[in-house]
Amino acid sequence: MNRAQMWGRVRAHPDAWDMIVVGGGATGVGVAIDAASRGYDVLLLEQSDFGKGTSSRSTKLAHGGVRYLEQGNIGLVMEALKERGLLLQNAPHLVHDLAFVVPNYDWWEAPFYGLGLKLYQLLAGKYGFGKSRLLSREETLEHLPTLKTEGLRGGAIYYDGQFDDARLLIHMVFTAFEQGVTLLNYVEVTGVTKDGMGFVDGILARDAETGEELRASAKVVINATGAFSDGLRRAAEPTASPMIMPSQGIHLVFGPEFLQGESAIMVPHTSDGRVLFAIPWHGHTLVGTTDTPISTATLEPVATEQEIEFVLATAGQYLSKAPSCNHILSVFAGIRPLVRASGVANTAALSRDHVIHIDTSGLMTICGGKWTTYRHMAEDCVDQAATLAQLPERPCVTHHLSIHGAHSSAQQFGALSVYGADAAEIQKRIQNDPHQGERLHPALPYVKAEVTWAVRHEMARSIEDILARRTRALFLNARAALEMAPGIADLMASELNWDEDAVARQVNTFRQIVQNYLPR
Ligand SMILES: Cc1cc2nc3c(=O)[nH]c(=O)nc-3n(C[C@H](O)[C@H](O)[C@H](O)COP(=O)(O)OP(=O)(O)OC[C@H]3O[C@@H](n4cnc5c(N)ncnc54)[C@H](O)[C@@H]3O)c2cc1C
Repeated sequence: MNRAQMWGRVRAHPDAWDMIVVGGGATGVGVAIDAASRGYDVLLLEQSDFGKGTSSRSTKLAHGGVRYLEQGNIGLVMEALKERGLLLQNAPHLVHDLAFVVPNYDWWEAPFYGLGLKLYQLLAGKYGFGKSRLLSREETLEHLPTLKTEGLRGGAIYYDGQFDDARLLIHMVFTAFEQGVTLLNYVEVTGVTKDGMGFVDGILARDAETGEELRASAKVVINATGAFSDGLRRAAEPTASPMIMPSQGIHLVFGPEFLQGESAIMVPHTSDGRVLFAIPWHGHTLVGTTDTPISTATLEPVATEQEIEFVLATAGQYLSKAPSCNHILSVFAGIRPLVRASGVANTAALSRDHVIHIDTSGLMTICGGKWTTYRHMAEDCVDQAATLAQLPERPCVTHHLSIHGAHSSAQQFGALSVYGADAAEIQKRIQNDPHQGERLHPALPYVKAEVTWAVRHEMARSIEDILARRTRALFLNARAALEMAPGIADLMASELNWDEDAVARQVNTFRQIVQNYLPR
């Protein structure tokens, strides 16, 4: 995949695309994969990098959502549990099962959570990940040695899925490309075009790198811009009433000492009525999240001090060594593209079901939902888009469509396992040129070969693309990422012909971005 080749395809495209998808997060890329694998001709445009929005900022769980079970949304839980199973089947290099323990400190918790988690397990049916059961106090501490022991009675264990969100997204971009989709990052859709009847028949866009303007027509335009959905809807219809009620969630990342072992903690009831997870992730401890209503969505949301304090305080109630601000290696925020519901003011109570909405201008918007359910959302959306665009009906084929790099024993590639089958190619390059195997920072496992690979094959265009989404350095350890930036810039400069000014600009831009991830 490379950008010049993609632009070549766009310029050579003779007439209307079957579908233009706006937004390169899990939803948009999922829709593009579904549509192209049915044989439709698809263009996808992302204003920033693929996954720059919410899709790189999640809790990284492929899950049914124990919380939605408590809310009584059995349909959503069953659908998500099935999708969790399909994700594991189609992307085994990037999704794996993980044990979660709900610690019990009150007498009623064991029967209550034990029963609920048994139901959760049963709802997964043939897509089950493992049997839930009650644990003794000793067993609980074997799974979670860092848990606070005072008053601990035992626990309940259940299994869910974990994945690397941005890495999965990059592999989905690859999959889309392999299915024939033309994809461009750093191309912002600035408006829509309409036919004589006032129906949307295309888009206007601008390349953020070159300023080149694009006008492209399509039989249907699909707005998959997540928390930004209302912006494009208003570009098509200035009076469109808002659909999105954005809500921010943050995560704190600590070293591995806060969660020794391979199990995660699940706290089912925080003081704000949400769940809190502490999860082992890439050799670190990921803790979150919050649910803070916000007025406008931005591409680089920032955690508030209250959110940070809340996560620290809640984690401190369960861990024998309470984490403090000084222990935070990275803090990141994401925005849920929740769909408004009349009479619901609390974003935590809003449904996580997805919605497909067609404005009177014919612009189709898909929003809400979850990372886990992206495939099902895409199937639903493409079914409706094909009807709206009067395209020949073709069945969805993504149930068994492997995600690029799918490999059943990727663990053999060690730190490169997230690349799946591509890891063998990266290893070959390291064998041919041992410099490519040099570590980029002592605190993180990433090597030089990953940078050249990402620029040549994964459309990485900036230092941030490498450190935030091709590797996860920025999310794991913001200070280490900052120290890595000049070295990354040098490697990218020789790949992308950056001059000294371009290198300085890149490093400077990254320095500013990192400020959002450093604890204050
Ligand atoms: C804190 C948090 C934790 C979460 N944890 C989980 C979890 O563990 N498991 C789970 O299943 N789900 C989870 N979710 C939900 C999940 O992350 C989201 O539902 C999903 O990522 C939304 O994807 P999206 O593609 O709709 O939005 P996004 O990923 O935000 O993608 C939209 C894209 O559109 C682009 N865009 C916007 N405007 C334009 C334009 N004009 N032109 C071109 N491009 C444009 C943006 O740049 C962006 O990249 C979590 C969400 C949050 C906030």
